[in-house]
Amino acid sequence: MRIPLCPPHLGGNEAVYLQECVATNFVSSVGPFVGRFEREFAAAIASRHAVACASGTAALHIALKLVGVRPGDLVAVSDFTFIASVNAISYLGAEPLLVDSERLSWNLDTQQLHDEVVRRAARREQLPAALLPVHVLGQPADLEPLLALHERFDIPVVEDAAESLGAGWTGGSLSGRWVGTAGRLGAFSFNGNKLLTAGGGGMVVTDDEQLARQAKHLTTQARVPGLDYLHDAVGYNYRLTNVAAAIGVAQLERLDALLTAKRRIAALYDETLVDLPVARLPVPPWGTPAKWLYSLLLQDEPTAQLALRTLIERGIEARPVWMPMHLQPPYRSSERLGGEVAEDLHRRGISLPSGAGLTEEEVRVVASSLREVLAAAARSAVGGGSSLG
Ligand SMILES: *Cc1c(COP(=O)(O)O)cnc(C)c1O
Repeated sequence: MRIPLCPPHLGGNEAVYLQECVATNFVSSVGPFVGRFEREFAAAIASRHAVACASGTAALHIALKLVGVRPGDLVAVSDFTFIASVNAISYLGAEPLLVDSERLSWNLDTQQLHDEVVRRAARREQLPAALLPVHVLGQPADLEPLLALHERFDIPVVEDAAESLGAGWTGGSLSGRWVGTAGRLGAFSFNGNKLLTAGGGGMVVTDDEQLARQAKHLTTQARVPGLDYLHDAVGYNYRLTNVAAAIGVAQLERLDALLTAKRRIAALYDETLVDLPVARLPVPPWGTPAKWLYSLLLQDEPTAQLALRTLIERGIEARPVWMPMHLQPPYRSSERLGGEVAEDLHRRGISLPSGAGLTEEEVRVVASSLREVLAAAARSAVGGGSSLG
């Protein structure tokens, strides 16, 4: 048996719409599904505009460019994230300021970032040109302190919502909003393992019509409409294809079902693992998670290593949670605020298979393997050498 981490769940009109692309000859970026995906995605998360991109990384690159990030700028970003968030900063010649996680959601500690920016302003030091909070693992970040920075210093907020489509806020000034819609721009990903997939793809969202128009312009080689090949800026070939958008539209029709499936799986794991000495990904007091990847902290690093090794040997695709960016070779000398929490999460944190199509039986298989590992770890002080075959 093999239980993958988070495979696509194609159970709707994907084949019908793909067939339509072929039958109508619309397989490139020209074609009706691209615009339809944008309109329906914007409506689904209550954003005014959405611009489809070839990837989530491309969406981040464009969003940061549109808020004016330039070479030499500093951009505050989560230390605990997938590397694409930080690479988008590098593409613009800017430098990341890596911000450690807090323990209520595992997202960047926005209060710590707020206080640091206020301190830098008082000392007339360089301020970030943009704030790029990442909503990791389906968890909404607490953005109130960053909105306060925006208010006070006019620093724009761009949200990396790639892992958290469907998460939202339940308290404060953002109550009732979906993640990705609180900043000036938000970015989503439709990579194969994300909640909603288009095979690959991304989306820039914004309430600002001007920014949406610029996003579309930049993602289509900055070509000026008309017969001439006139381009008024350095643009990018970042537009989504009609084929990918067709899959996206079919997936979007099932957004509620996909979210419900994830919540059901998380509840089932919670129930099955209730008596184990593990700390679950916490539900933050300010919002509702999307339960993208079911993740937990084991008691120490050797136990986490043993759990990963054992589960993977059995065909269960468990994974460590993100390695902090300050440990990645390209970002080892980047500026950072703390980093100890992110390191602890990486050492002890694992994600369990969480695909929307996961069966109850599969959840029980994963849970009982984990239960065996923890029993073995409890019997012997695990040295990291042993393994459960
Ligand atoms: C997946 C992901 C991205 C990148 O999306 P792609 O579509 O793979 O380019 C960006 N940020 C985070 C946090 C992600 O998890």
